[in-house]
Amino acid sequence: MLQSKLFPKTKKSAPKDAESVNHKLLVRGGFIDQLMAGSWTLLPLGWKVITKINRIIREEMNAIGAQEMLMPLLHPKEIWNETGRWDKASEILYKLKGQNEKEYALSFTHEEIVMDLLRKNIQSYQDLPVYVYHFSTKFRNEPRAKSGILRGREFMMKDLYSAHVTEADMLDYYEKVKEAYGRIFSKLGFDFRIAEASGGVFTDRHTHEFQVLSDAGEDTIYFCDRCGYGENKEIFQGKVGDKCPKCDGHFVESRSIEVGNIFPLGTMYAEKMGVLYTDHDGKKNPVWFASYGIGPTRVMGTLVEINHDDKGIVWPKQVAPFDAHIIELKSQNSKLKTEEIYYNLHEAGIDILWDDRAVSAGEKFADADLIGIPVRLVVSEKTGDKIEWKERKGKESELKTFDEVVRRLKG
Ligand code: ATP
Ligand code: MG
Repeated sequence: MLQSKLFPKTKKSAPKDAESVNHKLLVRGGFIDQLMAGSWTLLPLGWKVITKINRIIREEMNAIGAQEMLMPLLHPKEIWNETGRWDKASEILYKLKGQNEKEYALSFTHEEIVMDLLRKNIQSYQDLPVYVYHFSTKFRNEPRAKSGILRGREFMMKDLYSAHVTEADMLDYYEKVKEAYGRIFSKLGFDFRIAEASGGVFTDRHTHEFQVLSDAGEDTIYFCDRCGYGENKEIFQGKVGDKCPKCDGHFVESRSIEVGNIFPLGTMYAEKMGVLYTDHDGKKNPVWFASYGIGPTRVMGTLVEINHDDKGIVWPKQVAPFDAHIIELKSQNSKLKTEEIYYNLHEAGIDILWDDRAVSAGEKFADADLIGIPVRLVVSEKTGDKIEWKERKGKESELKTFDEVVRRLKG
């Protein structure tokens, strides 16, 4: 990609109302744009990052047998009345009227929609289990939408739903999803803890939250300094230093960002919505149900909160918008040489942003630091037939041959 063509350009200063680091840096770098509080466009650079985050999530979902689909966002009032959540979730549910005064809700989650799919398509125990997920928008009338892209009124979620014949089968799959979530957040480089929490408008049971340790978080968790067992502040009844109920360790406290939450819902939804299957003896029973959510847009904001310095973002390789950033320092014949390097890297399957603009070296370096691609490749008269390799994280730079650059980027 040629940087001269990239939409939009970077910004020298952050918006006046921006309070959080992710808001400031993602807007300045040209990753996101705010339409109004809590409502964001994912610009081309931001969309590239989200696509990479989603690829990591999708791989792990498919690996545990889940099937991807896509559900609608506009829901009839009647379906929300079946579980009582039209009223119970009133605070966050966006409600609207259509033709002939008919009432609708904008989706804040999809349990009711999956339940409706199941009751139309499940007959016997032979049709279960079912594991389905989608990536789509959620709408929530959030009272505070101040933490940049960490809290949107419209945001992206990957939500997975599982339906089972027995509680044991549900809990077994629940553990599998917990492990898959652990792998996703490890691949993203997060220092996270799993915290027990309440189920809010979803369930009376305890749920498990995936909490990334960060001062930018709105949550507080208490967790064991030894085994990592954790509880959200909302249910924790002890104090810092108390002994862990699971081992000899002690509780410590941290601010944190909730990036994922899994819910062992039970049979309540199936009972309310009449989602029944016939067992071996011909008896009808409600299905056991669980749901599991990760917010990719909040994940992107979290990555920025924990990977930045005073100059800009420092993307981890696995989610960076490009593999490397070529910076060409102007000289008579460097353009030709850079063009050759750019196309050859492209041929080698490496995704490159090439700063081909006619601006000063200082401006190019400042933008490269802001955008935060992990590897910067400088081509100039001084680098001769080699390329200067510098990592966004480090201070050192080295001269490398083209082949060395390819090997390192592919490794
Ligand atoms: P919070 O407590 O932060 O309001 P929640 O517990 O209501 O979030 P869940 O219903 O558990 O959210 O949603 C699953 C996941 O979706 C969360 O773990 C988070 O990653 C993401 N998410 C939830 N609300 C938002 C939001 N307003 N903006 C961006 N992502 C969100
Ligand atoms: Mg939650």
